[in-house]
Amino acid sequence: MAETADAIIIGGGVHGASLAFHLAQRGLKSLVLERRFIASGATGRSSGLVRLHYDLEPESRLAWESFQYFRNWAEMVGGECGFTRTGFLQFVRPQFIDQLRANVTMHQHIGIPSLVITADDVQRLAPAFKTDDMEYAAYEPESGYADPSSTTQTFLDSARRRGARLVQNCEVLGMQIKGDRVIGVQTSQGEFSSAVVVNAAGAWAAQIGQMAGLDLPVTTWQHDTMFIRRPKDLGQTHPTVIDFPNEMYFRPETGGLTLVGLEDANPIGESPEGDTDHSKPGFVERAIERICKRIPGMDRGSLHSAHGGYDGITPDQRAILGPSGLDGFYLACGFSGTGFKIAPAVGACLAELIVEGQAKMVDIAPFRLERFSEGKLLTGKHSYENIWH
Ligand SMILES: Cc1cc2nc3c(=O)[nH]c(=O)nc-3n(C[C@H](O)[C@H](O)[C@H](O)COP(=O)(O)OP(=O)(O)OC[C@H]3O[C@@H](n4cnc5c(N)ncnc54)[C@H](O)[C@@H]3O)c2cc1C
Repeated sequence: MAETADAIIIGGGVHGASLAFHLAQRGLKSLVLERRFIASGATGRSSGLVRLHYDLEPESRLAWESFQYFRNWAEMVGGECGFTRTGFLQFVRPQFIDQLRANVTMHQHIGIPSLVITADDVQRLAPAFKTDDMEYAAYEPESGYADPSSTTQTFLDSARRRGARLVQNCEVLGMQIKGDRVIGVQTSQGEFSSAVVVNAAGAWAAQIGQMAGLDLPVTTWQHDTMFIRRPKDLGQTHPTVIDFPNEMYFRPETGGLTLVGLEDANPIGESPEGDTDHSKPGFVERAIERICKRIPGMDRGSLHSAHGGYDGITPDQRAILGPSGLDGFYLACGFSGTGFKIAPAVGACLAELIVEGQAKMVDIAPFRLERFSEGKLLTGKHSYENIWH
């Protein structure tokens, strides 16, 4: 007889783990089915930035609610998520300064510690940075980065202590549907039954959707990152930065390293089974050129390593959260390369939706699947345009 659970979660990344944790807090025992091992998808490759600056208010709200977990992890979840406060700087091109100011005002209205600072202030915070291309930047003194694998592991540890079960090396191969509702899944380890099935399969979400007869607007996004060793005289650390003028983000990493990712040339639509152990040809050269533009002293740094990863991406580069149209089948996918930092709140909202019929922590209705068929793609009120291009 098939094993049954209150909920089946497909995918053992940070979103599957967060949902299992929040369902467990509400007394529901879930089964997390993972085809490889936990955090083996986007989560294990994630740069782990924990910033609050978005141009779309619901995303900032999800990030802010999530931030309460990151900075109180031991009490709220248990164990360590590796949150490291570095301060966060958002740089934009001069023509986006009005949007930057308006977005900081929106963040302050939510309660987020954020302010607009001058280029001189940036220089004081980060003496090694070149700032001659800017007048102003947004600054979040509390933000930083966390460790995505520890975040996922500790979410799951806590969920398992409350009755959740993780099954690794278990690939979902098909969906069991009766009438217009989902009743379980077929997997490489047999059948599992539940009235609730959640698609948290990251870059594989469209494949899972197809098993349920749905054509989800999610494709894949490939993204490389590089670690370089900073010359010692550049200082012990530096803030975490999104640097739109140089189409790049970067943050410090332990051991005197700096992690760099680029916003352009991230291939869309590749197979998610592609190579993630190596970066694409030419990436390292481009990333070194960009980081040296912002931190000229980095030309004396040395390359440590580079690798890639895949996430699911949607046409408006925002997540799909909530019901799928098929009864009992929920979506937590399409995180579009920015989903790590919002995972704690997304899991809470979906657990509220599943258990109580409505998300309360944050209104996730803007992320509903129907927005694509209705042509109502999400865009910030004071938009910077798409982050990935
Ligand atoms: C290189 C890189 C850097 C990033 N940097 C940041 C960042 O700095 N900040 C940020 O907020 N976000 C970042 N992101 C995005 C963020 O990491 C992702 O949005 C997030 O990790 C997605 O989590 P997930 O649980 O939805 O997906 P995943 O972690 O991909 O998990 C999905 C899981 O589903 C499993 N699966 C797939 N198919 C099946 C199946 N048929 N049966 C069973 N299991 C299946 C997969 O094996 C996988 O483990 C980055 C992403 C990448 C790739």
